[in-house]
Amino acid sequence: MTQTVGHFINSSTVAPSNGSTVPVYNPATGEAEYELEMATPARVEEAIASAKQAFPGWAATTPLNRARVMFRLKALIEENADELTQLITREHGKVYSDARGELTRGLEVIEFACGAPQLLKGEHSNNVGGGVDSWTLMQPLGVCAGITPFNFPAMVPMWMYPVAIACGNTFVLKPSEKVPAFSMRIAELFKEAGLPDGVFNVVNGDKTAVDTLLSHEDVKAISFVGSTPIAKYIYETASHYGKRVQALGGAKNHMVIMPDANMEVVANALMGAAFGSAGERCMAISVAVPVGEGTAERLLEALLPKVKEITVGNGLSKPEPHMGPLVSKEHRDRVKSYVDLGVEEGASLLVDGRTESAAESGGYFLGASVFDHVTPSMRIYLEEIFGPVLAIVRAESSAEALQLINDHEFGNGTTVFTADGNTGREFVQNVQCGMVGINVPIPVPMAFHSFGGWKNSLFGVNHVHGPDGVRFYTRMKTVTSRWTGMAKTENAFSMPTMS
Ligand code: NAD
Repeated sequence: MTQTVGHFINSSTVAPSNGSTVPVYNPATGEAEYELEMATPARVEEAIASAKQAFPGWAATTPLNRARVMFRLKALIEENADELTQLITREHGKVYSDARGELTRGLEVIEFACGAPQLLKGEHSNNVGGGVDSWTLMQPLGVCAGITPFNFPAMVPMWMYPVAIACGNTFVLKPSEKVPAFSMRIAELFKEAGLPDGVFNVVNGDKTAVDTLLSHEDVKAISFVGSTPIAKYIYETASHYGKRVQALGGAKNHMVIMPDANMEVVANALMGAAFGSAGERCMAISVAVPVGEGTAERLLEALLPKVKEITVGNGLSKPEPHMGPLVSKEHRDRVKSYVDLGVEEGASLLVDGRTESAAESGGYFLGASVFDHVTPSMRIYLEEIFGPVLAIVRAESSAEALQLINDHEFGNGTTVFTADGNTGREFVQNVQCGMVGINVPIPVPMAFHSFGGWKNSLFGVNHVHGPDGVRFYTRMKTVTSRWTGMAKTENAFSMPTMS
C-alpha cells in the first residue's frame, strides 16, 4: 500500500486523516514515491494555534538561547547532510552536487541566524535631553508563515524560518507540494535540536491551506516565494488582511557580454548559470546579450561545443550528469512547448534539447536548447520559461543592452562580463534589478546580505535574510525615558523639545 504523509504540528508528526491527497513523484523515474495529504482549513488552524501557544514562551527566551538551538540544528544538518541532499535530489531532480550546494547556501542562513544576540541589538542614544535616554527594541511579531516553491526544496524555506525563529517568532511553513520531504525532516531535526513544541510547524497543502494562512487573524506576517501571478495574489490578499508581507516572484535574468570580456570565461559561466539545475533557478541566466559587432559569433564559438556535450540523467547516478530531469511531466512539456514556440516565432534554434534520449526512461528529462536571434517582442524572451533554454539577444551597444533589461517586466538578477571598470560601474548604477553581478555568473547574495528583486520579481518592501530579513521579522519600539530631574518638571502644553 502506498504511504500517505501528513503534517508536522506541535513537535509531532500528524497522521493523514482521510483528506485529499496528491502523489509526490521522483522526476528521474516518473514514479510516485508516496501520497501527500492536502491540509484542510481545520488542520492549518491547528498548526496556527500551536504556533500561537508557543509564541509567548519563545519570544521570552533569550536571543542567546534561541541561537544555541540554531547552532545545534546546524550541527544536526551537517551530520545528516548526505541523507538530506538525497531527499532534495529524489523529489526535485537536480543533481547531487547541486543539491549539496543548495543545502550549504541554506545552512549559511542558519549560521547568520546563530548571530541573533548581535542581530537584535537595538540603537541607544545616551542623554538626548536633560537626563533623558532614548533606545530601540526589536520585538518579534508573533506567528509568521512561509509559502515556498518547488525549485529550492531546502534553501528557499531556509531563507525564512531560521531568521524568523531566531528573532523570537513562531512559524508555520507550507512547502511546495512537489518537494515536501526536506522540510518534514527539518522539523524532526529542530525537535532534536531542542526547539520547544509548536515553534516550527509544517503543513502540507495547496491553495486551500495557503488561503487559510493568508486570512487567519493570528498570522502576523507572510513570506512567499514562487511565480509572479501567485506572488501578486499573496501580496494583495495578505495585505488586505492587514499582514506584513514579502512576496518574491518570477524572473528573466540577463547576462550582458561586452566585447572586451574573455569568451572562454563567459562560456564557462553561462554553462552553470543557464543550465545548472536544468534552468529551474530564479537566478538562472535565461538571456545572454552579446554587445557589439562580432561578439555573438565569438560567444557562440566558445559556448556551443560545451552545450552540445551536456549530459542528462538521474541526479543520483555516477558519474554525475550535468543536468537532472525537470520537476514534473507538466513542467517538462511546458518547457518543451516553449522550444516549439521559439521555432514558430522565427528564432534560430542552434541546439535542440527536445531530442534528449534520456526522455525514454520514464523520467521528465529535457536537453539544453540555445536560440540565437531572439528579439524583444518574442514570447520566448518576454516570458519566464524556467527550464534549460538560453535565448541570445544581440545588442549594438551597452546602452541598448541596459534598456532591454530595464524594459523587461522582471528585475530579479543580472550580470555583466567586462574588463572595463567604467562599464561595470555604469551598469551597476543604472540597471533596474535587485541583484547585480560584475564578472560573476549568478549574483546570489550571501546570507548576511539580503536577497530580492525589483519590479514584478518582488511585491513588498523587505528582501529576505540578511539585515532586511531581521527587519521583516521584527517590530521596532522606540523608548524615551527619564529617571532623574523629574522634580523640575512643570505643566507644559507646548511640544516637548530636548533643548
Ligand atoms: P508556484 O507559484 O506555482 O508555487 C509556489 C507556492 O505557492 C507553492 O507552495 C504552491 O503550493 C503555492 N500555490 C500555487 N498556486 C497557488 C494558488 N493559486 N493560491 C495559493 N497558493 C498557491 O511556483 P513554483 O512553480 O513552485 O516555483 C517556481 C516559481 O518560483 C518560478 O516562477 C520562479 O522564478 C519562482 N521563484 C522565485 C524566486 C525568487 O527569489 N524571486 C526563488 C525561487 C523561485
